[in-house]
Amino acid sequence: MVSSVIAFVGLGHMGGPMAANLVKAGHRVIGHDLVPDALEAAVAAGVEAAPSAAAAAADADVVVTMLPAGRHVLALYQEQGLLAAARPGTLFVDCSTIDVADARAAHQATVAAGHRAVDAPVSGGVMGAEAATLTFMVGGDPTAFAQAEPLLTAMGKKAVHCGAAGAGQAAKICNNMILGVSMIAVSEAFVLGESLGLSHQALYDVASTASGQCWALSVNCPVPGPVPGSPANRDYLPGFAAPLMAKDLGLAANAAREGGVDAELGLRAAALYAAFAEGGGAAEDFSGIVRAIRERSGRRPAADTHDRKARKR
Ligand code: NAD
Repeated sequence: MVSSVIAFVGLGHMGGPMAANLVKAGHRVIGHDLVPDALEAAVAAGVEAAPSAAAAAADADVVVTMLPAGRHVLALYQEQGLLAAARPGTLFVDCSTIDVADARAAHQATVAAGHRAVDAPVSGGVMGAEAATLTFMVGGDPTAFAQAEPLLTAMGKKAVHCGAAGAGQAAKICNNMILGVSMIAVSEAFVLGESLGLSHQALYDVASTASGQCWALSVNCPVPGPVPGSPANRDYLPGFAAPLMAKDLGLAANAAREGGVDAELGLRAAALYAAFAEGGGAAEDFSGIVRAIRERSGRRPAADTHDRKARKR
């Protein structure tokens, strides 16, 4: 692979290890983050520190951003001068999870400034970022995708071209809407099963090989026991943290409202996860929502749950 000069802005939980993997793949990576500790950790992994995002971009072939939300990306690109600082024809790769409308606006501003752009949000979490096993969902024109692909596969195992600008973000929020709704459905079914005297294992054995089968059940099972590796077995330590699910469902809900889509379950899931993430689920895996459902149902965990925290209550 040809070695590139890459500016990497946003070296947090995800961006830090992603930038480190670009260094490992032989690229020169110039990084910036507002938080000095994040920048220091990246420098320890071989990233060169820049005093500002604009300074990082000045000599780069490619600018990667991994930021919290759309407003950060748009402010950085425009008001904070990132687009203006880059050489004409630079490829901008935004890996943050942001609103589809913001992604399209960022894309438009980038092209208007004489550059190329792709939106490339990820799934796979911090472990995937560290192990370079992320999946990238990419929106943008085919030439920009072809240019970005080798860099994305240095940070992940797969890059899927989903369509034009914003299509990567669209794929991400649609997928996570399925996941959020299905986790609530699986959790409600387990609590209903408890109320009917059904053991977790019996429900799992039936549903995981029947038409109720889904990732939320068979990989991230929200009750301890049936799937030993699921977060429920370690007191709901994430995993995929509930606040991130709440964020993604909020983006899906906005898009559904803007598009006039009657996504009744998606909107309800967004409200349930927003409440869970602000309350008991702030530091939990998103599967911990089973405990909130149980609590609202006035039930104690069933005898076979091994649910230490809930049993203490
Ligand atoms: P994070 O908060 O750990 O990292 C974001 C970093 O951006 C921070 O270090 C912050 O200081 C920096 N930053 C913000 N504005 C900046 C600016 N103007 N200039 C320079 N640095 C700036 O967040 P994260 O967990 O790494 O997530 C990043 C993105 O990835 C989010 O959009 C998130 O939704 C998405 N994502 C996260 C996960 C996950 O498991 N953490 C999984 C998939 C997708």
